[in-house]
Amino acid sequence: MAEPVVPTDPQAEAAAGRGALWLGPDDLRRLADHCRCPEDAPAEVTERCLRPRFRARAALHRGGPIG
Ligand SMILES: [Zn+2]
Repeated sequence: MAEPVVPTDPQAEAAAGRGALWLGPDDLRRLADHCRCPEDAPAEVTERCLRPRFRARAALHRGGPIG
């Protein structure tokens, strides 16, 4: 069973110190696929790299106005 889609709450995101990043599909694809972490990078580095790539991929997957 798929998890319900929970819309982003702009106030909660702002309270967490997060800001919106508006990118077009080409930039999102580049961000989603862009990783130059060396194989021996510490987990902290790879996790920091993974977060924006995951968000970019999720934004592409959701489609919406950028289809
Ligand atoms: Zn990386």
